[in-house]
Amino acid sequence: MRQLLYNGHIYQQRGQFTSALLIEDGYILKCGSDQELLAHQDQDVTLIDLQGKTVLPGFNDSHLHFYMSSVAFQTVELYGATSIDMIIERAQQFINNHPEAQGKALFGRGWNQDYFETEPRLINRLDLDRISTDFPIVFSRACGHVVSVNSKTLEILGIHALTPQVDGGQFDLDAQGQPNGVFRENAIDLLSSLREPLSSQDRLNLLTSISQIANQYGITSVQTNDITVGSEEGSAIEETYRHYSALNPTVRIYHQLCFTDIDTLYARIQSGYHQGENQFNRYGPLKIFIDGSLGARTAKMRQPYHDDPSTRGIECMTSSVLDEFINLADQNNIQVAIHAIGDGAITQVLNSYQNVIQTENKNRHGIIHCQITDMPILNRFKALDILAYVQPIFLHYDMHIVEDRVGQGLASTSYAFGTMEELGLHVAYGTDSPVEGLNVFNNIHCAINRQDLKSFPENGFYPNEKVDLETAIDNLTIGGAYASFEEDHKGRLLPGYMADLIVIDQPIFQQDYAQIKDVQVTMTMVNGKVVYTR
Ligand SMILES: [Zn+2]
Repeated sequence: MRQLLYNGHIYQQRGQFTSALLIEDGYILKCGSDQELLAHQDQDVTLIDLQGKTVLPGFNDSHLHFYMSSVAFQTVELYGATSIDMIIERAQQFINNHPEAQGKALFGRGWNQDYFETEPRLINRLDLDRISTDFPIVFSRACGHVVSVNSKTLEILGIHALTPQVDGGQFDLDAQGQPNGVFRENAIDLLSSLREPLSSQDRLNLLTSISQIANQYGITSVQTNDITVGSEEGSAIEETYRHYSALNPTVRIYHQLCFTDIDTLYARIQSGYHQGENQFNRYGPLKIFIDGSLGARTAKMRQPYHDDPSTRGIECMTSSVLDEFINLADQNNIQVAIHAIGDGAITQVLNSYQNVIQTENKNRHGIIHCQITDMPILNRFKALDILAYVQPIFLHYDMHIVEDRVGQGLASTSYAFGTMEELGLHVAYGTDSPVEGLNVFNNIHCAINRQDLKSFPENGFYPNEKVDLETAIDNLTIGGAYASFEEDHKGRLLPGYMADLIVIDQPIFQQDYAQIKDVQVTMTMVNGKVVYTR
């Protein structure tokens, strides 16, 4: 099977474009001018006229939670809602767009009363009854520690004024002593019975639908952290990915695997870490969490928080346990990728990596997030050649809190996208969906404009840390491929590379960066097959 794409503006690498590609069996065979390639065409070639449009390699999202995103996308997205009315509107819209979900329990996620312009209060059952009193409605606050439900939910669960409270949690009561629909902490577990158990077919359908959404955003490869080996849910998800990769997959999967404990990792290595891999379903790094988040002041800092001197955040794992995990992985040539946000956590991880990296970082160990940094920390990334997995989209929210959290001095050297490039680090960008959405162009916007999605501030937040367009694109393509040991055949549109590519609707190399977040993908090709057209 051969395709000839011609009449395009095809990005190959910085400063290098071509107009035509000849593709055979999922790989790029040749590139060149229209004239050259059209002259040699034979009958069994399918011609695709790119109509002068810009073509990029397919995006490789270097850190997200793909399966979890598929579950989250089945719920009403309430992030950023600025009023209770807006929450109700979004729910009604969701119901209209999902007739198949009619009458079933409706879940939503991400509301936060701090964003409400009027009435900044927790939402309660009376608010949610405006959506429906016929089926249960369960809407989680952004933090996940507070959940609000409607009256039907209380009725189904049999929760009333006299129901005893829950240890380590509570359901709130109104002035009359009746449950008002707000659940906190451990009381949230009472709601779990409302979730229908998923069959393996349900899970497979979820992965298929999230793949279609990813393709719409130009994503053709993901490095996903969904599976915890050693847990029941983890095995079910792993099995789903196996099925998925055997049936017309449209996204290439590289797993970042969590393990319940070190014995489970050891057992996995004994039975074959990479067992049953194929081109669409590969096993990548051991994934470890070492701290929390900046928003919740749980990222581990070297100094106390500027806006709460009583804390330096949390440490999820002691250095001795961390060393054990890293040693076991490294000795077995398994890559490691560690979630670290605060400068304290990043330093802890760099110290552990330094113990196992003798001369070169051949297993390509990396740090996910790398948010709070200073120059000495970034220099250590360079010296040890540690991969930086970066989510530029975090700047959208964090630019508004980072100076409060860590003070101006440290904020000015954090989210140091530009410095990472100047140092020549191996950098791979990603979305961290479902924490943020799958729109890759929002990430590019944050990286090159250093603005939030409302284009604030005008000149960018610490604008010296901006990167240029080519850098952002490379970090989403070839940079991601490096993180999965595929840089010699994925992430560029050159002969010998996989035919994973996207066509976009704007000539981004010839226009102002300001519009970048509005770019739409018009066609996505994976393995030489068109998997999406707009
Ligand atoms: Zn994540």
